[in-house]
Amino acid sequence: MNLILLGPPGAGKGTQAERLCDAFNLVQLSTGDMLREEVKSGSELGRTAKEIMERGDLVPDDLMIAMIAGRIDTGNGGDGVILDGFPRTTAQAEALDAMLVEKGLKIDRVVQITVDEDAVVERISGRFSCAECGAGYHDSFKQPKQEGVCDNCGATEFNRRADDNAETVRSRLEAYREQTAPILPYYEGRGSLQAVDGMGSIDDVFGRIKAAIKGV
Ligand code: AMP
Repeated sequence: MNLILLGPPGAGKGTQAERLCDAFNLVQLSTGDMLREEVKSGSELGRTAKEIMERGDLVPDDLMIAMIAGRIDTGNGGDGVILDGFPRTTAQAEALDAMLVEKGLKIDRVVQITVDEDAVVERISGRFSCAECGAGYHDSFKQPKQEGVCDNCGATEFNRRADDNAETVRSRLEAYREQTAPILPYYEGRGSLQAVDGMGSIDDVFGRIKAAIKGV
């Protein structure tokens, strides 16, 4: 089963992708995570992407398509992939189709997670993740069980993303509205799009996503 998770920043794509990977043995391909790794490593791509990401703009299509091309593969070590944060433009959606055709793969479901824009800012400004394993947490909604200790790996260092601030979130929302939302009709036309209400608890949203991918 191959899935795309679409939705504005703060919709919960990363959190739900983690849950889906565990439940269905899928591999998460998050272009945001890949870019943050590139920035951390100081690669040429990372140096180009850093400022763009801090502004809340989108990294150019040709760089994104080249980055993801090597990762979309049969197997990927699981029973399918979850694309989280890709495609984000029409050009990326078209390039993805070409890659999938070449590999004899297809997207089974595109899950659009919808959220109120006001909630997005609150969600984003409280989030942090384990510096070791990347597990996601939130000041109000999902604290580690033991304060300061990652539930998943026991590490005690955490990170907050440089682009998770109110000002950058506004640019990221604008990029979503102007450049990403226009790809929704593209998938709707093929009958693969399912919208899911992303408000409520992580468990509630996960239940709705499971219902949306039932029968795939
Ligand atoms: P995310 O972790 O998905 O919120 O992505 C963080 C930032 O990485 C975005 O605000 C963009 O600057 C960049 N980015 C991630 N995925 C893409 C993509 N598919 N196309 C362009 N830029 C991207």
